[in-house]
Amino acid sequence: MNNIARLDRAHVLHPWTHFDSHERDGCVVVSRGEGCDVWDANGRRYLDAVGGMWCTNIGLGREDMARTISDQVMKLAYSSTFGDITNDPSALLAAELASIAPGDLNRVHLTTGGSTAVDSAYRLAQFVQALRGFKDRRHVIARQDSYHGSTFLCMSVGRRAGDQPPEFNYKTDDIHHVASPYLYQRPEGMTEQEFEDQLVAEFAAKVEEVGPEKIAAFFAEPIQASGGVLVPTQTYLKRMWEICQKHGILFIADEVVTSFGRLGAWFASQEVYGFVPDMITTAKGLSSGYLPIGALIFSDRIYQDMSGDRYFASGYTYSGHPVSSAAALKNIQIMKAENMLERARTAGVKFQAMLQGLSDLPIVGDARGHTLIGCLENVADKATRRHFDDAIDIGKRVSNAAEPLGLLVRPLGHL
Ligand code: PLP
Repeated sequence: MNNIARLDRAHVLHPWTHFDSHERDGCVVVSRGEGCDVWDANGRRYLDAVGGMWCTNIGLGREDMARTISDQVMKLAYSSTFGDITNDPSALLAAELASIAPGDLNRVHLTTGGSTAVDSAYRLAQFVQALRGFKDRRHVIARQDSYHGSTFLCMSVGRRAGDQPPEFNYKTDDIHHVASPYLYQRPEGMTEQEFEDQLVAEFAAKVEEVGPEKIAAFFAEPIQASGGVLVPTQTYLKRMWEICQKHGILFIADEVVTSFGRLGAWFASQEVYGFVPDMITTAKGLSSGYLPIGALIFSDRIYQDMSGDRYFASGYTYSGHPVSSAAALKNIQIMKAENMLERARTAGVKFQAMLQGLSDLPIVGDARGHTLIGCLENVADKATRRHFDDAIDIGKRVSNAAEPLGLLVRPLGHL
């Protein structure tokens, strides 16, 4: 273990890292990166198959990004966007996002990452519903196995196994959850279409149970990424959106993972699944991880209903950060100039075929994904889809075995 790994073990509290395995195994110290590859402190090369945290979309180590960032640092490293001040990169970025976002999603609230975008979306939903005269619309619906970020509020909205330890007293009173489109573990003998019908019916019933006049918004990741790469049937999301439309419930598409090329599109909601949400939250691929930034993109209809002698009480010191905004703008330019969305779609076909090829392995119960996101679900018994005992920690074992082979993957329980 080198000195950095020792210091890390002695002082760093990592996100979601088991205390005992951190004590026992320590960490891989990543020292350098180029394209899809990273090198550890000993010079060992790894294929970073998760793209950092599903975020290094244009690849690491690009000089054009480095130049853009350093030029902006020298020009204007920081300026607030609170009140009546703005800066060139943040206004240009907002305009660019409006031009690539679907429908009339032309308004942008810049944030520091995905969690802060989701947190602001929740508040915006309640705010605009109240301004439209629906003061009782304070409830939201989300789904099991969802991940919407790590602030207290985002963790209350999300519902992944293991994320609600009893010691954390999350907000529960007005947040409701319905089942996720977890196709692989659907009830025995049910077709995918029947399962979709059941999920849509459950959502409609939940809306009636809570009372449509009390619901502000529905939060949904187009593909539930951290909850196990749950890829829905093709028409499921549009049918959920239709129910929202019917009842005046705002559809918030959490596209923190699924935007900026991950599914070969700027945004998956319309381009992949055929509906225009009321709001989109995004981050990660927005700057390809070069600098932290997120965005809440919302409709002109919402903005029009908020005008007048009011303000939206949300924002962060680094909202509209000029350097992060310049990096995100450059990232979009690079994606356009290098035709990356189309290239992602082409590479995605090959990647998914290769992933499917792993289904023959005795422990792989399901190989699933879409374009450039994929996952293997490991099982002890393929016939019954029974998982291994949690104590076996199969995901971590696979990850530990992959590392010496030069491959970084992301273990998530049985995945
Ligand atoms: N929403 C989704 C769907 C995510 O996957 C994530 C992070 O993985 C977030 C929100 C939170 O983003 P951040 O970690 O940038 O706060």
